[in-house]
Amino acid sequence: MRTGIFFTYFQGERLKDFPEALAGILDKENVLYYDAVYNSRNGLYYLAPVSEEVLFKVHSRRMVEAVKRTGDYEAALYSAGGTVQAAGEMWQGKIGNAFVFTSFGDHHAGRDFFGGMCYFNGAALAIAALKEKGVKRFAIVDTDSHHADGTRDIFAGDDNVLHVCFCYQNYEDEHNNVDIVVPWRTSDEEYLAKMKREFVPRAVAFKPEYIFWEFGYDATQGEYGDKGLTRDCHPRLAKIIKGVADEVCNGRLTVILCGGSGRAIATYTIPRIIDCLAELGRFQ
Ligand SMILES: [Zn+2]
Ligand SMILES: [Zn+2]
Repeated sequence: MRTGIFFTYFQGERLKDFPEALAGILDKENVLYYDAVYNSRNGLYYLAPVSEEVLFKVHSRRMVEAVKRTGDYEAALYSAGGTVQAAGEMWQGKIGNAFVFTSFGDHHAGRDFFGGMCYFNGAALAIAALKEKGVKRFAIVDTDSHHADGTRDIFAGDDNVLHVCFCYQNYEDEHNNVDIVVPWRTSDEEYLAKMKREFVPRAVAFKPEYIFWEFGYDATQGEYGDKGLTRDCHPRLAKIIKGVADEVCNGRLTVILCGGSGRAIATYTIPRIIDCLAELGRFQ
């Protein structure tokens, strides 16, 4: 399995230890590193910002203009660009799965609104681009602590996208939109059991061709969406979700960094998730 890592340089604290924290991973033969800054270095691949052509497939002109006025437009383009490019590289068979670092997340960005540190919906943009290449079915699983209102807005009526969001409510409709309630206090075991019970069988039955995981770690203890999870829950989730991707769609899984603020948790969990994706076995 070849794993693509899509990396940009960021504002803020949480990714200060990267890419150094990926030492021992980046030099592996099956790991391809797409970097937005040092694109001229030998052996690295260039990460491109998302194009306006793709942006307007999902977002309104009014919204894109509003994002331009925030001062974060470029960082938002690169954040979403990583996911769009990851999906494109997968479609071409260059990589099997991917981890996308972001400055700004996805899931609070709808067709015509944004908020909560999300500007453009990278998963939705990647899906729009893949649909034009003839791909039909997709699954998005969201383990950020909060409800994915933006993603839901975009795919509310789209039967070809299974959206399973772990948040504050239980919900299910005829268009393959599902919310799974996570109580304000839970445990790793409970959460992992929910993933196995609620996402895995739905994804297996749905048979998506691509899976996107909105990986937020803000439900970890001490975070702003604390639900009592430990940092070890996330690599264990990775194993379950990767298992589904391997079973139903030749492993095609894109992990998108979503909410979470702690630097130590990012530095602990992200290398372990990438290790799982690339099947390196360094942490066992
Ligand atoms: Zn969140
Ligand atoms: Zn939800």
